[in-house]
Amino acid sequence: MAFTLETKNGLSWSVSDRVAARHLFTRRLGGVGDFPYSSRPDPVWEAPEVQERVRQLWLRFRDAGGFPEEGFCFTRQVHGTKIRYVDAAERRMPPLHPCPVDCDGLITDQPGVPLCIFTADCVPVLFHEPEAGIAAAAHSGWKGTVHDMMGAAVRAVEALGGSADKLRAAIGPSISRCCFEVGPEVREAIEALLGADAEGLCPPEEGRPGKYMADLKEANRRRLLQLGLRPENVDVSPDCTMCQQDAYWSHRATKGVRGTQASVIML
Ligand SMILES: [Zn+2]
Repeated sequence: MAFTLETKNGLSWSVSDRVAARHLFTRRLGGVGDFPYSSRPDPVWEAPEVQERVRQLWLRFRDAGGFPEEGFCFTRQVHGTKIRYVDAAERRMPPLHPCPVDCDGLITDQPGVPLCIFTADCVPVLFHEPEAGIAAAAHSGWKGTVHDMMGAAVRAVEALGGSADKLRAAIGPSISRCCFEVGPEVREAIEALLGADAEGLCPPEEGRPGKYMADLKEANRRRLLQLGLRPENVDVSPDCTMCQQDAYWSHRATKGVRGTQASVIML
């Protein structure tokens, strides 16, 4: 099991050898991907020249990644656990007007439909069920994690005829235990989700009473094993978005003035 780095036309991304379907986790990209726009509504972002730079970057990304001319399926992420079924009719190219529908995961059983989610510290998880022919993408920050986004994703795969036993999952770059300081409410919520399997996931932080260092990637991995995935079918990126700021955008490190990583999978 391993993540490896690929570079094409000045863009770079990582892929997991556990997932056979076309997929990738982007890093900080050249050009407009380095534009540190605010993650909050920002008038600068609406400027026509900025919108054109966004469009040009997406065209480069689409072509370098081998994605269809019609574009990608998007969400408007709200730290929930809703997963939408999408098909080819929903493909589009950014900039997006109006914003897509609120949800934190996408699923499809149609070929040529790239599912895209965004993260900049939260955990991106891409799924592939090769026998039933199903792909899914989920955004799982700490709220999504403790509200069981992984359970929602596995149930959505099963509802389309897939099986947890056959399901492959790639857990992408996110803020890692080295950097993710949390309060007791996060630790308690992770323990409520995982029970005895939460052991060791949120150790107390040295010299900071009442603070803990949480391992969200591992929490999602353990939840997937509880849901019936095989350990050899779940891959975890070692990369930390907050430590590796030359390679990734981090919401915490930039206090929200940032770009974003895209995670994409397509049958
Ligand atoms: Zn770190």
